[in-house]
Amino acid sequence: MNGLIDTHNRRINYLRISITDRCNLRCRYCMPKEGVSRFGHAEILSYEEILRVAALAVKRGIDKIRITGGEPLVRKDVVSLVQRLSALAGVHDLSMTTNALLLCEFAPDLSRAGLRRVNVSMDSLDPEKYRRITRGGDLQKVWEGIDAARRAGISPIKINVVAIAGFNDREIEDFARLTLKEPFQVRFIEFMPIGAASEWKPEHCIPCQQIKGRIERISPLVPLTEVGNGHGGPARLFKLPGAAGEIGFISPVSEHFCQSCNRLRLTADGKVKSCLFSEELTDLKPLLRSGAGDEELERTLDEALLSKPAHHGPIDGVIKRCHHPMVKIGG
Ligand code: SAM
Repeated sequence: MNGLIDTHNRRINYLRISITDRCNLRCRYCMPKEGVSRFGHAEILSYEEILRVAALAVKRGIDKIRITGGEPLVRKDVVSLVQRLSALAGVHDLSMTTNALLLCEFAPDLSRAGLRRVNVSMDSLDPEKYRRITRGGDLQKVWEGIDAARRAGISPIKINVVAIAGFNDREIEDFARLTLKEPFQVRFIEFMPIGAASEWKPEHCIPCQQIKGRIERISPLVPLTEVGNGHGGPARLFKLPGAAGEIGFISPVSEHFCQSCNRLRLTADGKVKSCLFSEELTDLKPLLRSGAGDEELERTLDEALLSKPAHHGPIDGVIKRCHHPMVKIGG
């Protein structure tokens, strides 16, 4: 193993694998009401194909894998995939991003299969607002999923909150207070100009500095780590004094963390995306389905890395947009 180093000298050790573009929610900022056109069954990589790519990536230096989507828990036999990914020697960190609606049902099996931690997306603590932003989601089910994950020993549980001006800005302090008693890591993520967020305007995005300022009305925050040191990923971590949990800020818009970006994405239909904001994709599926050898696949993975840009901007003050829907890329 000689490690994956990109042209900007970043060590790439993190692979996010989207296993489906289907989702059981229709979050307003992520997807149009009617959903997005779906990949056909044959377009989606099989678990065998995903495992082959993952194993090669691990051989090349990836040691951190996240399963995402769409909603990963809607894909059949997801537990068997988790079990096989966790059995890959060299994977030190296997996690999943989920809306948790089905987590209550799956948590014990996922834990037994080797899933150590989850990120749960939850943009409101108010059941009615949650239903509105997700177009029908049941917040109670999310909490039941979180409880089941805790009982199954999945830890830490990180709660991802996309902060959207005029929608959940009044809940920032409530989300922060959640960490006083509960050992969650609540992470505020700036709303990005991606996919169905085509209506996105700069004023919809609440910069993390502003979020932090609001939380500090409760109490000054105690800093825990620096950007990109591995513990919080791109999150800058803090704690309210005496709190059981942590608070993270992820600022891809106001203060990008590209210099420490260590990730590659594999889309559900087998394309490698080296930057969330780049439109460039490297398609592995034709190789996987035409009997290409491991060396050729590894070479193509390396080529995908060459396209990883130094940063996604803003360039000359203009914020870059990505038109690929998040459910297709894997958020
Ligand atoms: N279904 C899973 C879930 O809900 O966590 C995984 C996929 S979802 C696309 C992954 C994450 O992307 C979610 O936390 C969602 O809030 C986030 N996301 C989608 N569109 C976004 C945007 N425009 N800006 C910031 N985050 C976004």
